[in-house]
Amino acid sequence: MSRIVYVNGAYVPEEEAKVSVFDRGFLMADAVYEVTSVLDGKLIDFEGHTARLRRSLSELEMPSPATDEELLAIHRELVARNGIHDGLVYLQVSRGAADRDFAYPDVPPTLVLFTQEKPQLVDSPLAARGMSVISIPDQRWKRRDIKTTQLLYPSMGKMMAKAAGADDAWMVEEGVVTEGTSNNAYIVTGNTLVTRQLGPEILSGITRTAVLRLAQEAQLRVEERPFTIEEAQSADEAFITSATTFVTPVVKIDGQGIGAGRPGPITQRLRELYIEEGRKAAI
Ligand code: PLP
Repeated sequence: MSRIVYVNGAYVPEEEAKVSVFDRGFLMADAVYEVTSVLDGKLIDFEGHTARLRRSLSELEMPSPATDEELLAIHRELVARNGIHDGLVYLQVSRGAADRDFAYPDVPPTLVLFTQEKPQLVDSPLAARGMSVISIPDQRWKRRDIKTTQLLYPSMGKMMAKAAGADDAWMVEEGVVTEGTSNNAYIVTGNTLVTRQLGPEILSGITRTAVLRLAQEAQLRVEERPFTIEEAQSADEAFITSATTFVTPVVKIDGQGIGAGRPGPITQRLRELYIEEGRKAAI
């Protein structure tokens, strides 16, 4: 069944949705995006995603295409029109269409949103079995705190993982883990949760913020600092977070089992808490 998508003010069937070939998102990856999860037809962490979108736009001096209230209305309209129960809303803002030139043009931005259904968001088979990851060098640009659509290296990373028979890759720079190809990375040893501190090297995950708060509330000690693959391999548990995977256990890193080699209790508890709290606060 054809979806209804949103393009620059109009709700249209996906086959009729059009963006110019001169759009800078298409030509130069001059675009930013957000992905918001939908559970029970409601948006999870919506305010966090719009706040990060504002920051991405401002870092790139890109005009805003709509107010937060307008964006919320569009999200809700798309969820309703497409009958999304569990899934996601993808939002992209590009600088707009103009003759190809490296200097930023003064044109209206392009705003596109669409939905994807994901019935197994909560009952995820990957969360039940746990993921295996490989380590790869982090060869992305140095402003990973801006959520741009330059996703070619993370895509290459996923393909490297696939070729190695793994589910994903953790990227390593100067000997320490930055993050997963599309998620933040964590390890747990005893009662201590470790994840890399924020900075230009990683994306400030909206799920990360919520999970660190939940971890503190659950009396875990939280250390925001870099860790190596070796430290991760000898940890009790490991996991990732993102808007569409919530909290998902990692049970193998570069072929080596983590802890008991199956999803750990702290990871499982944080996943439950995140889903529970997310549902309660969803709008
Ligand atoms: N890090 C990277 C590189 C990502 O692409 C993502 C999500 O797409 C995340 C972290 C997790 O961010 P969030 O929890 O806001 O989805």
